[in-house]
Formats: sequence, C-alpha cells, structure tokens
Amino acid sequence: MYPLKFKSVYKEKIWGGTALAEKFDRDIPSNSIGESWEIAARENGSSKISNGRFAGKELMEVIEKEGTKVLGTKAKDEYFQKFPLLIKLLDANDKLSVQVHPDDEYAFEHEDGELGKTEMWYVIDAQEDAKLIYGVNPEVTKEEFATAIKEGNLEEKLIKVNVEAGDVLYIPAGTIHAIEEGILLAEIQRNSDTTYRVYDWNRVGQDGEFRELHIESALDVIDFEAKPQTKVTGLEIEEKGVTRNILVACPYFITETLDINKQYADQADGSRFYILMGLEGKARLTYQDGEIDLEAGETVLLPAVLGDYIIKGDCKLIKSYIKDPTKLKTELSDKGYSKTEINRIKGII
Ligand code: ZN
Repeated sequence: MYPLKFKSVYKEKIWGGTALAEKFDRDIPSNSIGESWEIAARENGSSKISNGRFAGKELMEVIEKEGTKVLGTKAKDEYFQKFPLLIKLLDANDKLSVQVHPDDEYAFEHEDGELGKTEMWYVIDAQEDAKLIYGVNPEVTKEEFATAIKEGNLEEKLIKVNVEAGDVLYIPAGTIHAIEEGILLAEIQRNSDTTYRVYDWNRVGQDGEFRELHIESALDVIDFEAKPQTKVTGLEIEEKGVTRNILVACPYFITETLDINKQYADQADGSRFYILMGLEGKARLTYQDGEIDLEAGETVLLPAVLGDYIIKGDCKLIKSYIKDPTKLKTELSDKGYSKTEINRIKGII
C-alpha cells in the first residue's frame, strides 16, 4: 500500500468563486466553484484515486479490495460500507446559507436512518473583516428565533465572529453556522449530508428559484441552551521536529496541525488510517517503498499499513484520524497535561 491521492470533485455553487485557482493554482472547471471534495465517498461525489496502481479506482473500490490494509484493524464495521469522513475545501465568494446539522438520534429518526453531522473548519485564507456565523445569541429562545425568521430579521439573533487565516472552529451538531464572503477554508466532517437551511439571504439560484428551507427541522435541532462556541485554541505539544496542535477530539474525528520545520518521523501502525492536508509550504513524505510530495491544498490518505514515514520540508499540515477521544485524554494526562490544558481541545468530554 502507498499514500493515496485523489482527483478533486468540484461543485459549482451560487456562492462559489475562483479562490482555488488563485491560491493553489488549480485548474477549475468554472468561475463559481464553491466546494472541492478532496476525499469523498458519496453517491453525489466519489473520489477517484489519481496516483499509483489504484489510479482511476474509487476509494470504496479500494477499500472493498484491501479492507483493513486501508482502514486499519480498529475500523468499525460500518466504515467498510461507508467511508467515515468527508474532506472538503470551501471557497465562499459570497455568503453560504445559514444552516444547522442534526445529531445522530434526530437524523436516524427523521432522515431515514441517516447520520448526524459534526464538522470543523480551518480557515486557510480570509479577506479583511471576513466573518462567520457561529451560534445563536445567548438568551434567544426558540420562539423568538422562529419569529425572527418570519419577520426577516434573523441576522440580529446570530453571533458573528471575525476570522483570519489560521482560525479553527468546531461545529458540533445543533450549532447554527454560515460562512460569509471572502473565506477559503478546509472542512473536515463526518460523511453525512443532513443539512437544515434556515435562511438563505433572500437569494435565488441560477434557476431563479429560492432554495428550499427546512425551518421546522432546524428549530428542532438547534441547541438554544448551548453556551456560545469559541474559536479552537488547541493543545500545543512540542515534539522532535514538530509542533503539534491538537484541535478537536470528538467521537467522529481527531484533528491536529503539524508545524514541521525540517523533518518529522511518524508511523501508521496498522490500526487506523490518517489523512493529511497541506496548509502551507511543501512537504515530501518518504515511506518504505517511495515518496510523494504534498503541496498546500493537497490531501493524501495514508493507509493503515503504511508503516514508518518521514515528512521533510518547512510546512504546515492538518492531520485527521479517528480514535476514541477518551483514550487520547488518558494518554495526555499520563504525559502530565492538566485538565485545563486538555480542555483546550474541543469536543473532548
Ligand atoms: Zn455545515
């Protein structure tokens, strides 16, 4: 097995733009590309491998054939039917709809056995004064929220935060959110598509129609009691050759950034797969049978059996994987990190 790269699946959106071409020199098929699915295994978008002996095959075909060699011995049974993560780049040239995702319980019951969705954003680039919507103002009740939708003044009820490159936001199910214009970000999420739109800025699509809203379902799943989320600071760990910053550790994924200045050695020991995305600089990953380059904006899947590898370069990457967050918590507290320090990681309970 070898590190798998994929052909991006581009999605044209009314709010999309050309940032992927400008920032990463991509050859994009239109001037309003909103999403680039970097690793996806869904009916409406399935990644094809672009390198090595599996080139041209879809991710799920390789998983079907190679099984735990890709996913790892700790993979849950359901991962073999449905790859658990969805990795995207989002270019918001205009505002995205204000939306919320359900949790597992609600999605299962109301969306025909679907999964809930929790996601996180890493802001790669942002124009000056760029903003996100990130939660409902404290003390706004469900009734007030519903009235504001009807009266067309929902914006007053929403929390807006300014963002800049490098900011990280964790969006658990039940959190209302939207990306406003001038932001390019990486989105790491559960492989699910259950989205309830509450407000679409009174825009019409290319067909001249308003996009469908799902106000009732959204009102059901928004967590009005939740304390407003704050940006993720993460837990920074200095290791040989690298600064790790563990950002999120929720039951669906763990994400951390790796700031490498010369070289960093790590391994995939057969138990789980890892996904690396280049954020800055250029990385060269050397493994037993070869090497690959990873530029900013590129994503690679390291199969579980890859073994030892070394990353060289002056670069910053984001690494995503799945592991029981309580195990990570125990490991960190065994290493001497305090509860307060560990709680800088979002999603960890
Ligand atoms: Zn979302």
